[in-house]
Amino acid sequence: MSDTAIHIAQMQKFYGSFHVLKDINLDVARGEKIVICGPSGSGKSTLIRCINRLEEHQSGTIEVMGTALDDNVHHIDEIRREAGMVFQNFNLFPHMSVLDNCTLAPMLVRKTPRAEAEETAMRYLERVKIPDQARKYPGQLSGGQQQRVAIARALCMNPEIMLFDEPTSALDPEMIAEVLDVMVGLAQEGMTMVCVTHEMGFARQVADRVIFMADGQILEQAPPAEFFGAPRNERTRAFLGQVL
Ligand code: ADP
Ligand code: MG
Repeated sequence: MSDTAIHIAQMQKFYGSFHVLKDINLDVARGEKIVICGPSGSGKSTLIRCINRLEEHQSGTIEVMGTALDDNVHHIDEIRREAGMVFQNFNLFPHMSVLDNCTLAPMLVRKTPRAEAEETAMRYLERVKIPDQARKYPGQLSGGQQQRVAIARALCMNPEIMLFDEPTSALDPEMIAEVLDVMVGLAQEGMTMVCVTHEMGFARQVADRVIFMADGQILEQAPPAEFFGAPRNERTRAFLGQVL
């Protein structure tokens, strides 16, 4: 199997006439951890939403685990299985228990029998340290617990890649660490990760590469030591001055 998890070349994305992503070129190797940062409105969410086809790009190439994201619906299902997504606002199903949140997609999409899906779900809920919350509803949990459920839910599909869109931005400060700890654990186990986050401590700790985006473009990318130690782009420096 190829070493490339995600291949993006000359990719353009528009919202109507608004050119939101401009000539994106990005290769992510299997097992690589990428952190994407940049000002609000720079296209970070749009980029990772394009990677699992929550948004469509208009031209250029996106391949995920060797499968092209094109109009072939079959491919789109495959991509969603390969790439788990964690959102800023958790996006759990409020009317379903934590356990049912975790078993829904494996049962529906992968046709996993309920008993097996529940066993897998409990394993991941243990891993994110909330097996005791399995029978509760999302609204009964703290934000940090909900986000850990969202991570467990994504892992239940056994994805090759995990995409995170500002997973700690909606959390109270005291809950950020419990979510970052789970993400660090995943990174250490070799998961391929693309994380939009402004948690620069996390970036320093786990990222192989940090990417800075502004105005729909990748302006700079470098390993963390270089990115933080000697940012080349003036806008990167200005941005880091604000978040560090
Ligand atoms: P970021 O995640 O970096 O804050 P986004 O990808 O959310 O940036 O948004 C990039 C730009 O695209 C912003 O100007 C935003 O207003 C615009 N945008 C985002 N989603 C849509 C949409 N569904 N329709 C039109 N414009 C959008
Ligand atoms: Mg965003």
